[in-house]
Amino acid sequence: MRHEVEVAGAKLVLVQGDITQQDVEAIVNAANPDLTPGGGVSGAIHHAGGPEVTQAAAQIRKERGPLPTGDAVITPGGKLPARWVIHTVGPVWQGGTHGEPELLARAYRSCLKLARTRGIRSLAFPSISTGVYGYPVEEAARVALQTVRAYLEAHPGAFSEVRFVLFSPRDFHTYAAVV
Ligand code: ADP
Repeated sequence: MRHEVEVAGAKLVLVQGDITQQDVEAIVNAANPDLTPGGGVSGAIHHAGGPEVTQAAAQIRKERGPLPTGDAVITPGGKLPARWVIHTVGPVWQGGTHGEPELLARAYRSCLKLARTRGIRSLAFPSISTGVYGYPVEEAARVALQTVRAYLEAHPGAFSEVRFVLFSPRDFHTYAAVV
């Protein structure tokens, strides 16, 4: 399953699959503030990337303390096909009245900005916050796609591709209906 549109000269791609297997320059991790492996997509990324990812993340945690919601940091990709992992913390869903949409948008923007400043031109996102953090997928999809679109339009030429990797077919269809 794949869906592609063009935004300001960049490919905006939706695929159903596993983010640890993507051949892009950087993949994004829906991390926890302590940057520990944990479960979900983060556990999968740390497992596939190996100790280089986990140790680099632990070092950042040690130096900087917990990562605030909406911020992003970068580590090497270790054994992943992607050279880099950008770790961001999405908001925990608390009913939608605690600034969740703005915090989720900020998480996407922080990743895009960090990638752009590092000269990373292809980037893959998971569906941030819609697992354990409980953000409703349809609402998260709207925020995610609007934020990425706006960023690509504001920075034409910066990216060749931004890809969303949806783990379940259901999530893929939800994103595809919104894009
Ligand atoms: P959060 O804590 O931000 O909600 P989760 O890891 O619990 O993060 O879930 C985020 C999304 O990542 C969910 O849609 C989940 O199904 C998905 N996911 C889990 N494993 C993978 C994977 N290997 N590749 C892509 N997405 C994944």
